[in-house]
Amino acid sequence: MRLRYGAEEEAFRAELVAWLDANVHGFENLRDNKRSSAYLTDEARAWQQMLFDNGWLVPGWPPELGGRNATPPEQMIYFEEISKRDLSRSLNPQGLGIVAPSIRDYGTPEQIERFLVPTLRAEIAWCIGMSEPTAGSDLASLRTRAEVFDDHFVINGQKVWTSGAHHADWCICYVRTDPEAPKHRGISAVIVDMQTPGIEPRPFPELSEATYLDFNEVFFTDVVVPRENLLGELNKGWALTQGSLAHERAMLWIDYAYLVERILENLVDLADRPGPGGKALRDDPDYRDAIARTYVDSQAIMLMGYRGFAKFMRGKAAPEHSLLKLVGSEVMQNALLAGSDALRAEGLDQDLMGPHLWRRGAWAAQWMRSFSGTIPGGTSEIQRNIIAERVLGLPR
Ligand SMILES: Cc1cc2nc3c(=O)[nH]c(=O)nc-3n(C[C@H](O)[C@H](O)[C@H](O)COP(=O)(O)OP(=O)(O)OC[C@H]3O[C@@H](n4cnc5c(N)ncnc54)[C@H](O)[C@@H]3O)c2cc1C
Repeated sequence: MRLRYGAEEEAFRAELVAWLDANVHGFENLRDNKRSSAYLTDEARAWQQMLFDNGWLVPGWPPELGGRNATPPEQMIYFEEISKRDLSRSLNPQGLGIVAPSIRDYGTPEQIERFLVPTLRAEIAWCIGMSEPTAGSDLASLRTRAEVFDDHFVINGQKVWTSGAHHADWCICYVRTDPEAPKHRGISAVIVDMQTPGIEPRPFPELSEATYLDFNEVFFTDVVVPRENLLGELNKGWALTQGSLAHERAMLWIDYAYLVERILENLVDLADRPGPGGKALRDDPDYRDAIARTYVDSQAIMLMGYRGFAKFMRGKAAPEHSLLKLVGSEVMQNALLAGSDALRAEGLDQDLMGPHLWRRGAWAAQWMRSFSGTIPGGTSEIQRNIIAERVLGLPR
């Protein structure tokens, strides 16, 4: 099922499709599993700048910020077309998707001038220092300390899971600036130059691919940061953490909806292969169930997404968005597991087939990677807590 749009919106789609058809050539496969999420290749910079210059980078924003003041339905069309083609807008997704909106919303005029357009034009790359060894889901218990002086901060502590820190130019680092205050109230966000003396990023590999280095531990020892790099108000950094994650979640479901559909097509393509006992997989009731379940779930994601969108358009709160992150990431994971199970040992080196696949690679590796959807931005368990308490109103 697909939402139908009006003539004006379809004209917007036609313009976008024509632009993509004319310009995307050579930029379709920017994603590179060997490079970190803050490593911007020349092609990636050129593509992001081209999107920016033509108002197709963040269509809902004004032209001077890489957009064209697109309406919400037009923005949805935009994300549909980008997801359908499996295009990356940026090779530094945390810079474009989280840092840029945070700076736009909380930055001083000087910070906006200094960082916003260079981030949007892929001139600089970012990492985000939130998680610590003892502060992940419970982010508010972070311990990295920033002592506050008249014109600077001095940071000491450790972050972990910091994607792309070894390649990033800048970091939005969440630090404790008031150790006496209740834990949510003593946190600030500071913009840190990753070249500052005292910062040591130590990259470490992912479970799914030993040669892929994106995660880092980052150690801060007496790191001096100018006071003007405070983002938002002192001790009010918690508001930014909530804003950052909301930006991340806003239209994520469209991507999940299209990814699940693509995995579903792949599951159907495997159905003629022999399964356990030599019979074709299509005759295996478990495999047929997995296909049917994935199909039903993919439709549910789409419908739930549309419902949330309709509420958003009427200015109402849309709890569907908490559900969509949970359901989208878990449905994708289950569908990848069904394919890996069906292929058994072959799943270790048989690639998912079909055009424009998200992060190419074998079924089993894709399944392992899919955990990257169910952990960051609030694990599945945390999402369930939020849904239970804030959506269903259940007691703690
Ligand atoms: C691909 C990826 C990229 C990431 N990038 C970054 C980054 O760039 N910057 C950054 O700062 N962090 C990043 N992270 C870290 C991510 O934000 C944390 O992994 C996440 O917040 C979970 O924290 P944790 O790993 O410390 O697990 P914990 O919080 O220690 O959780 C461990 C387990 O306990 C469960 N649990 C915890 N609390 C509760 C509760 N109250 N109720 C029920 N269950 C609970 C969790 O669901 C989980 O299963 C990234 C993670 C991944 C996977």
